[in-house]
Parts: sequence; C-alpha cells; structure tokens
Amino acid sequence: MPDKMVSGAHVAEFSRGIHYLHDPALNKGTAFTEAERDALGIRGLVPPGIQTLEEQVMRVMGNYNRKTSDLEKYIFLVALQDRNQTLFYRVLMDHLEEMMPIIYTPTVGLACQEYVHIYRRPRGIFITDKNKGRFSEILRNWPDRDVRIIVITDGERILGLGDLGVAGMGIPTGKLSLYTACAGLHPALCLPVTIDVGTNNVDLLHDPLYFGIRHPRIRGEAYDDLIEEFVEAVQENFPGALIQFEDFGNMNAFRLLNKYRNRVCTFNDDIQGTASVALAGLYGALRITGKKLIDQKILFLGAGEAGTGIGDLIVTAMIHEGLSEAEARQRCWFLDSEGLVVKSREKLSGHKLPYAHDYEYHPHFLDAVKALRPTAIIGVSGQPGKFTRPVLMAMAEFNERPIVFALSNPTSRSECTAKEAYVWTGGRAIFASGSPFEPVTLEGKTYEPGQGNNAYIFPGMGLGIISCKARHVTNEMFLAAAKTLAADVSKNDLERGSIYPPLKQIREVSAKIAVAATEIAFDQGLAAIVKPADLPEFIRARMYEPVYPVYE
Ligand code: NAD
Repeated sequence: MPDKMVSGAHVAEFSRGIHYLHDPALNKGTAFTEAERDALGIRGLVPPGIQTLEEQVMRVMGNYNRKTSDLEKYIFLVALQDRNQTLFYRVLMDHLEEMMPIIYTPTVGLACQEYVHIYRRPRGIFITDKNKGRFSEILRNWPDRDVRIIVITDGERILGLGDLGVAGMGIPTGKLSLYTACAGLHPALCLPVTIDVGTNNVDLLHDPLYFGIRHPRIRGEAYDDLIEEFVEAVQENFPGALIQFEDFGNMNAFRLLNKYRNRVCTFNDDIQGTASVALAGLYGALRITGKKLIDQKILFLGAGEAGTGIGDLIVTAMIHEGLSEAEARQRCWFLDSEGLVVKSREKLSGHKLPYAHDYEYHPHFLDAVKALRPTAIIGVSGQPGKFTRPVLMAMAEFNERPIVFALSNPTSRSECTAKEAYVWTGGRAIFASGSPFEPVTLEGKTYEPGQGNNAYIFPGMGLGIISCKARHVTNEMFLAAAKTLAADVSKNDLERGSIYPPLKQIREVSAKIAVAATEIAFDQGLAAIVKPADLPEFIRARMYEPVYPVYE
C-alpha cells in the first residue's frame, strides 16, 4: 500500500510547468521553495515571497471568517480543495469541530439542494444509464490508479431531504473528505461516484440549470443491471476496493447490501455505520444510567435504513450479551409512517418483519410510548418535531434518565431540539442528535448534547478494512467499532451529558476503531495480509498527514 505519498504518477506526467499550480494534489501555492520554482519551471508564476503552510492557514482562516453564510463557507472550502489539497486538509483538520457542520451535515444538505446552482468544478465520477456497457472504460479515466475506497450514491435519499438526483454528489465528496480528515485516508485512495439513474424530483426536472439525466428513476432489473455493471467495473479496475453505498432509497439499500455483502468488500453507511454510532451512544448512555443493554426497551420512530440497521446491530449486541435472537428482537420496537409495526399489519417490507411483534396496533407515537414505556426513543424518521412535549414528558415520567436520540438530519428534520429534550424532561434526558446542537443552559447547569455523527465510525472502519485488505465487512466489525467508540468517552464527557468523545479526538478514535475492525477481520479469517506484530503502529503508519511534498 502506498502510504503517504501516492501522487507520484502526477509528478512523472508533468515534469515542469504551470500544472504544479493547477493540480490540487501537487500545488503548494506560495510555499514552493526557491529551488522548486527553478526546478519545476514556475519561477515568476507565483508571488515572490515564500510562505509556510501555517502562514497560508492564517490567510485561509481570515478569508473563511469573512464569509457571511454557511453555504458561502462551504463553497469557499470546496474551492480551496480544488486549488490546494494539502492546505485544504491542514485547515480542515485544524478546525474540524468548526468545519464538520460545513462540509457535512447540515450545510452539505443545503449544498446538495443548491448543487446545480453553486457548481464550479467536477469532483468524482458521474455514470448514467446512457453509459451502460462503458462503466469500466469510465473508471479508467480517473487519474489515480490506486483507488481503495469508493463512496457511491444514486441520490435518491439525500440525508432526510429525499431525491436530489445527480445533485446528491455532495454527499460522496463530503464523506470522502471526512475519510481523509478523520482517519487519514490518503485523498488519492478515495473516489466519489454518483450513478445518475434519473430523478423523480419534479422541481429538479423543471429547473433549467439541472444537469442530471432528465427522466424518472430507472427501477427493477434495468437498475440492478447498472449497479451490477458498476460493481464489476470496480473489481476490474480497483480489485478489492471498499464500496460504500450512501444515501440510496431504502427499497434498494437493503437489497443491494444483502446482494453484495458476501460477494465484494462493501458496506452501507446509512444502515451499518449509523447502527454502530447509535449503539455506541446507547453504550455511552448506559454508562450514565448504570443499566445493561439487555434491560433496555427501545422504541424507534422510523423503520427505514437507519432504524432497522440500528435495531439489527442492537440485536447482535444483545445476543453477544446472552439473549436469544427472539428475546433481543422483543426489546426493539418500531413505529413508521403507518403506525406501530405489529404482526396484524399487512404488506410490511422484509426489513421490518423481524420486529412485527404480536401486540396491539397503535397509530400514534405518543400512544405507543405510553403503552410500551420504553427506556429509549430513537428518531430516524426524517420528520421534524415528532418528539413532542407530551412524548418527552411521558418518557420522563417513567424513566429516571430517559434516553432520547433525535437522529434525523439535517437540523431542520430533527425530531426535537436539544433544548426541547432537556426542558421537557426537567434536564434528565440523555440526549444525542444527528446534526449538531449548541450546549443548553438550564437553571445554571450546562448540558452538552452529543452528536451521533457517523463520522465517528466510518472513517476508522474504512481505514481498518483497506489496511488489512478485508474481503468483506461484517456486523461484528461494527459492533467492535461501537464498543471502541463508547470506551473512548471520558468521565468528564459523561458528566457534561455528552455520550460521544469530543470531535477533536477523532483521529485517535478512528485509529482505535481501525485496529478493532482489523482485529475482527483477522479473527474471522477475512484479512488478506499477514497480521502485523504491532497492529496499532501498522495502522498509524498508514494515516495521511497534510504536509507538502518536497520536489527535487
Ligand atoms: P428511510 O427513508 O430509509 O426511512 C425513513 C423511515 O421513517 C421510514 O420507515 C418511514 O416509514 C418513516 N417515517 C416517515 N414519516 C414518518 C412519520 N410521520 N412517522 C413515523 N415514521 C415515519 O431513511 P433513513 O435512511 O432511515 O434515514 C432517516 C433519517 O435518519 C434521515 O433524516 C437521516 O438523515 C437520518 N440519519 C441520521 C444518521 C445519524 O444521525 N448518524 C444516520 C443515518 C440517517
């Protein structure tokens, strides 16, 4: 595996000239040394003063802080990434807490909604049904030949915002930036892909600036054939690369995961990554309540990818803690757009069936909460405001410390705000959200809501998987990741009400998750390398640091 410098191919291609300023992987801007300016033939093409990376960071931050809206900040950061990759990652890593909500949720949601209007430069690969039969040829157009990790979307369910067609590309690009910033995956190993199969979003279809394919979404066999061709093309061009499916509609997401999980190296972050981060949150919450996972009764609002993904991993965890599968499922309950998921309901989709308990039907969430008396409620419905005051007051009535996770993204879709959760439970809720909320002060006490951000899990998971060349990705790896993340929450964090570690620790957390996932890969016989004597060191040595290359 090429560890830290993998852009040598570029260097060989352009031995001298202005390309060094135009290729973001090679560009050092005002940091090119005197000797480099002569050797590369760029003397006079940059201002004469030579600046350090730190000085460049200062300038970038000055410009960034002058931007008056989050969307402007997003555009500015993407433009920096297009100009100077090293500087972009230095800035991002040094200001991750501040910039995560810009390059990821919530701002990335707005950026996707505005994608065709704010578009400047392409990033990643776009494939469509028009290119059927040519996917492999298209992948060969990508300049980096050692791709190890691919994030692909078909744009059908972008965050909680629905079908955004080709404009969903902001998600794979954003996620891959996080892979690099949070876990040190070298940018040249990463490839964002959008498969444009049309859109059912009429606003987009009527937008004169929309540049996706203008027909309704392809479904059925024709759709499956496109995905199959893509997966095959990846095996041909980048054998064994990890394929992360991202923001697919749930009619496809579960099917594709089941179809490919034992065939290639793949996972679905919305299902499995979310599950891991939510389970870690539960483990963190249980460190506060002092209770066991198997003693919990969890009621989900929303029974889609996130919800049943979390449910399935909780079931795996409970089985590891001694319950039978039936006993574990009995502790997880779901209410979707049609009401409580129970046996008497007709036409339930496959992923909900294991949770269809023999119980009376309740159409409304509040009634289900009162009837079931859960210890935890988890919102993954994409429907804002559903954790109402009566719901939260009921939770506080029969729980000393009610666990309340409002995970829907972006912020505008959250089932309740942090303030609502704390105020309506008299400050007793253990709260986490999908998008960040500011700390809340109530009667002199400050509560710091945790963010159940998938970025705690998937970058470390990806780093582990590609470092040991795992053939497949398993639920046990996500379980190990959840436990590792929960173990990294300090007593201090818990005292402040936060069940996740601070984002500034994310590189160390990711490294530990990579080690944990890799251990499982070795245990399960899925790793394709000889086990290194010092696994943590082996992982750490693979983590990219944004420092400028030296040209000679
Ligand atoms: P999905 O489309 O697969 O599932 C949505 C579910 O919500 C469906 O079961 C649907 O029936 C249900 N639903 C819709 N309206 C409802 C209503 N009025 N009452 C009850 N249920 C209703 O989507 P998903 O992938 O499961 O994502 C759902 C939400 O979770 C999104 O907002 C997404 O951003 C969020 N999410 C958060 C995280 C995180 O915080 N880490 C991770 C993944 C997804």
